[in-house]
Amino acid sequence: MPTYLYRCRECGPFDTSRPLGTAAATEPCPVCAVPAPRLFTAPRLNRAAGPLTRAHEQSLRSADEPDVVTTPPPAAPARTTHDPRHARLPRP
Ligand SMILES: [Zn+2]
Repeated sequence: MPTYLYRCRECGPFDTSRPLGTAAATEPCPVCAVPAPRLFTAPRLNRAAGPLTRAHEQSLRSADEPDVVTTPPPAAPARTTHDPRHARLPRP
């Protein structure tokens, strides 16, 4: 749902969410209830954040071009700790 920006002359800018194409020319200010005119801003057409975009693209790519694996992944290095209290913890 898009967010529309309005500016109250007394209270400043505020935004409101409305279904696409249903934004009114004026919107009552949430503080003083005076009708505030709508401000027109650049549409937010930018893409999602970097890691989210990469994960989404990887998900889409794996549907058509899954990664072919010929060997199991290398074993993770054993976790070592230097805290003596960890030696007293129960082991599986
Ligand atoms: Zn106001």
